Amino acid sequence: MDDAKSFAVLCRDCGSAGFVGAPDPPYDCVVCHSRNIRCHAELFGLTIAHIDCDAFYASIEKRDNPDLLNKPVIVGGGDRGVVAAACYIARQYGVRSAMPAWQALKRCPDAVVIKPRMAHYTKISRQVRDHMLSLTPLVQPLSIDEAFLDLSGTQKYHKCSPAEALIRLQKHINADVGITVSIGLGPNKSLAKMASDRDKPDGFFVIGAAEAEAWLAPQPVSVLFGIGKATLKKLHAAGYHSCADLGAADERQLTKVLGSQAGRIIALAKGIDPRPVTPERAAKSVSNETTFSCDLTEFSELEAVLERLCGKLAKRLKSSQLTGATVTLKLKRSDHRIITRAHSLETPTDKAHILFDIGRRLLVPETQKFIPYRLLGIGVSHLNQASSSLFLDLNDEVNDKRNRLEAAMDHLQGKLGDRIIQSGRQFSRHRTGTQNDDTA
Ligand SMILES: [Mg+2]
Repeated sequence: MDDAKSFAVLCRDCGSAGFVGAPDPPYDCVVCHSRNIRCHAELFGLTIAHIDCDAFYASIEKRDNPDLLNKPVIVGGGDRGVVAAACYIARQYGVRSAMPAWQALKRCPDAVVIKPRMAHYTKISRQVRDHMLSLTPLVQPLSIDEAFLDLSGTQKYHKCSPAEALIRLQKHINADVGITVSIGLGPNKSLAKMASDRDKPDGFFVIGAAEAEAWLAPQPVSVLFGIGKATLKKLHAAGYHSCADLGAADERQLTKVLGSQAGRIIALAKGIDPRPVTPERAAKSVSNETTFSCDLTEFSELEAVLERLCGKLAKRLKSSQLTGATVTLKLKRSDHRIITRAHSLETPTDKAHILFDIGRRLLVPETQKFIPYRLLGIGVSHLNQASSSLFLDLNDEVNDKRNRLEAAMDHLQGKLGDRIIQSGRQFSRHRTGTQNDDTA
């Protein structure tokens, strides 16, 4: 042990910071005597954080209903559904996310099963995001409940190290939003992401640059951030199982297995990750609209246009892996007055048939007034990354069949072109609307 080194210490309870000669815990905080302290040589120099909400949906349900506090809670379910989130009590029984609900209930028969309230969770996700943005503009959301933050250069502004600012943030989120988050701090994204997973819930874990390679060596390659299932399969087949295996790999050899990504993945296994934190200026809404060549009054004519636009909108959502929680119908009357009607979904969607169902429901009352319209549009807002949408499996049987049909049609259209399959409604009404739809 090198006594000359100074090890940074930080109290997670009172926030006081200082240095000690050696990293041997346990220390008591000199100010508040708490033992909830973190000690690490690089603690005050690291700037990349990954913040992950703990059992997000389940924590929100407990926050909103204190009767659930000491009970095992599963969000998701239904006879055929899956677990979207399980609280920490349910996890003690072996319940995990994405597990079929029947299996979860077999392991934990006393669990309280709650239907997901996605629109509500999205609202709270935005509150948590606002807290993150108060620390740095460089926030890159990964899903509804996790994000990367780059705090380089914020020291002057916050008058403290990123680690101290993050500990304060963790307390603020807990006090203001009423849920806990776990924080991973590291020199880059991959290490920060792994760190946030090591000390859950309400955790704060640090992986420094100097220890990264040794820390990673015994870990399975699957821990590395950004290694997809296909890559993982190829690595296993070629005999690379641990990060040490990968770190020792010959780049030319591995290029035969992984192609041009080989060098990047070897570097990852050694704790090197140059990917920057990139705040996405994410679209707040996605919509398609069309102006007709002549005004339309009839429901059936407007309905045919709506169906075509929903198809286009769903395609855009799917290709950018987004789902939307609020569906908005827009109509422009012949006197240019604009009418909008919106409906919020419990489960965000990227499905044309669901958009069409909602759009049609919103359209019906507007066409009973026999008003001529010159434009129709359909859009979605409150967007989420589709990859976080485990709850899509919770649809009822009818939707499930229609989802499968839609997937089959997407596949055929992808191969043969959009016009190859049209509904009878669109076929008989193809004269309505210009085909030059506007997107936004
Ligand atoms: Mg989480």
